[in-house]
Amino acid sequence: MTIIRGATTIEKDCKEEISSAVKNLLDEIFSLNKLAKNEVKGLLFSLTTDIHAYHPAKAARECGYDFAPLFAAIEPEIIGGLQLCIRLMLFTELENDRNVKHVYQKGAKVLRKDISEIFNIALDGPAGSGKSTVAKSLAKDYNILYLDTGAMYRACALKALRLGVDTKDGEAVKAILPELDVKVEYKDGAQRTLLGEEDVSQKIRENAVSMAASNISAHPVIRVKMVEMQREIAKKMSCVLDGRDIGSTVLPDAKFKFFITADSKVRAERRYKELLARGEEVDFEKLHAEIVARDKQDSEREFSPLVCAKDAIVIDTSTMDVAEVLAAIKGHIQSKI
Ligand code: C5P
Repeated sequence: MTIIRGATTIEKDCKEEISSAVKNLLDEIFSLNKLAKNEVKGLLFSLTTDIHAYHPAKAARECGYDFAPLFAAIEPEIIGGLQLCIRLMLFTELENDRNVKHVYQKGAKVLRKDISEIFNIALDGPAGSGKSTVAKSLAKDYNILYLDTGAMYRACALKALRLGVDTKDGEAVKAILPELDVKVEYKDGAQRTLLGEEDVSQKIRENAVSMAASNISAHPVIRVKMVEMQREIAKKMSCVLDGRDIGSTVLPDAKFKFFITADSKVRAERRYKELLARGEEVDFEKLHAEIVARDKQDSEREFSPLVCAKDAIVIDTSTMDVAEVLAAIKGHIQSKI
């Protein structure tokens, strides 16, 4: 008995997507492995728990794969696992000894690190455009790392603020470099940002740190150090990075690049709600003015400004909810994988 494995993903739980995904998967497995009908002894599908719209065995039968027993089962729900995923084990008795080829299509390629090259998703855009929410979701769905690069600049700013250093003063910032020990770690899939051994993941989210981060990130000495760390991480594993200059400077060769933007009032509204939920009282108009000032400073700085890479796909999220943004991004990614 030889087992051939396969997996694919769908974007929406609907009959048409399930039927076409099952057909494409089976067609590729059969053609790559030059399988004859009489060599196939059984097909066992498994589905993630978010698929309900159609039975994959029925889909297989309908497209002509009805010559062997078909069965489907639900997979256990694993935190961080791929979503909307259909997997297959095909039991065969091959007549000639031959090497089997397993098939992983679309987003399911990330399940096989051996056949999927390292890929990076660059998400750039101004403050409050929704990058981090989308980045976290993408990382979870594709089972890859999420690197929040803004958190690194925020940690630099926090250090400077604690030392009473003016974040706009290049020379003063340069002087703290030797004691600037920013690190990122991952625990249960979530990034922890450290200053030395101290976990500052929460502290850096305070509004007072935002503008200081924008100030300090304008200095080349800071950017060179952070960009080097970001490239090191992205070189070793597939990840989604959000920031301002990922597609343009950090990873100009990233396979997927998106520029996420939204009207400044909408972005201020999102930040306002986020800060309120964390118990931080802020004045909306003041917050809006700060966001506009931060965009201006980030876009106009000389070294590695906030810019839309010329090969990035622009998504304006002003009137979109998170699910719609994710669907748009995943649609582009799936079509290129
Ligand atoms: O994204 P977030 O609001 O956490 O970023 C804080 C600041 O860090 C930004 O306003 C920007 O000035 C800076 N930043 C940057 N390059 C990045 C990420 C963030 O300059 N890749």
